[in-house]
Amino acid sequence: MRDRAQRAIAECKLIAGFTEEPGRTTRRFLTPPVRDVHAHLRDRMEALGMTVGVDAIGNLRGLWQPEGTDRMSETARKRLILGSHIDTVPNAGAYDGVLGVVLALEWVQIAREIAFPMPIEVIAFSEEEGVRYGVPFLGSRAVTGIFVEKMLADEDAEGIRMEDAIRAFGLDPAKIGEAAIDPAEVYGFVEMHIEQGPVLEAENLQLAVVDAIVGQTRLGLRFIGQANHAGTTPMHLRRDALAAAAEWITSVESAVRDAAAGDEPGLVATVGKIELKPNAGNVIPGTVDLSLDLRHDSNYARSQWANHLLADARRIAHQRGVEVESVVKMSERTTEMDRHLTARLASAVEDAGFPPKRLPSGAGHDAMVMAARWPATMLFLRSPGGISHHPDEAVREEDVEAALLVGRKFMEQLAAEVR
Ligand SMILES: [Zn+2]
Repeated sequence: MRDRAQRAIAECKLIAGFTEEPGRTTRRFLTPPVRDVHAHLRDRMEALGMTVGVDAIGNLRGLWQPEGTDRMSETARKRLILGSHIDTVPNAGAYDGVLGVVLALEWVQIAREIAFPMPIEVIAFSEEEGVRYGVPFLGSRAVTGIFVEKMLADEDAEGIRMEDAIRAFGLDPAKIGEAAIDPAEVYGFVEMHIEQGPVLEAENLQLAVVDAIVGQTRLGLRFIGQANHAGTTPMHLRRDALAAAAEWITSVESAVRDAAAGDEPGLVATVGKIELKPNAGNVIPGTVDLSLDLRHDSNYARSQWANHLLADARRIAHQRGVEVESVVKMSERTTEMDRHLTARLASAVEDAGFPPKRLPSGAGHDAMVMAARWPATMLFLRSPGGISHHPDEAVREEDVEAALLVGRKFMEQLAAEVR
């Protein structure tokens, strides 16, 4: 399998060359380099005997059918869906998304060799990152039938409406509804993806089975103090909004760090954005707007912590004569991966000779959208250095090989059951 792992990595590197910007990889939804990716993957799919098409949202889809489909059991007639996305963030690495697609094709190669009895559909999702239109998961939304038509009127940064971008790519936006798959035809969805985090490397593990995609709460906070002259306002008469915000930020960090090391493992909180007014060197800050991104796989714990951190903000503000306002900008519940399919994947991981490590995903993935319609699960591959969304993103040959060994076990076990 080592040679196939090398081939998968080489494919990712080659596909990284299909880009909007010379010298770096940027490939947004339905931009010209997506055509090159499609042409390349279509050739590979056809060489594997797959029937290939592009649906109206731009997902490239290849269907592999086993021979002798007439004698199949009911389960075996359902299809196993594999895949991930082929769009990227600006200045991306070579593996986020794409690796899941090329690994899926290697699984199909294995399926041919072991006479896997079920159809396999490989989907290269056209859009997952949400870069071009600010809305993620366009590809998987269409496949699961939850694409909202009014998004077609959305404009990108250049003022191009989504429906026009779809037409310019040679597709018909009126046919997006036809991209949806009937859940009765689906056995389940498996997405392979780099971890995009440092956990597996820290634990010296190659793979993990994802059991949930963690929910997230995003809040906007505003600390309102009093802008005033930096020279004439004595320290004890100040209402400095930035000093209050700064105290709260470090308080969030220490509280969440303690909680994550104790009762609430996996809890993470980030203040990633801050804007202050008037933002002048000789004026006491009057207003500070900042963001809080809070993630944990327990919906209950996450909402408790959001309340706790907000109460902390109010306490700190009050002590400083500052006011604080807050607004919930996003609250997304945790998506559990399908228990049965996840257990099956974990058993394949174990059978292939690897510890069946389970890990929640801190990032969103197409599997999260797919999970609403049919069983879905994910296999994570170690991210060297924990680096992703960056040109230094990497993957190890032995980890890619491990994912292929798992694929063989997974399909062998499934085949033995449905035949
Ligand atoms: Zn991704």
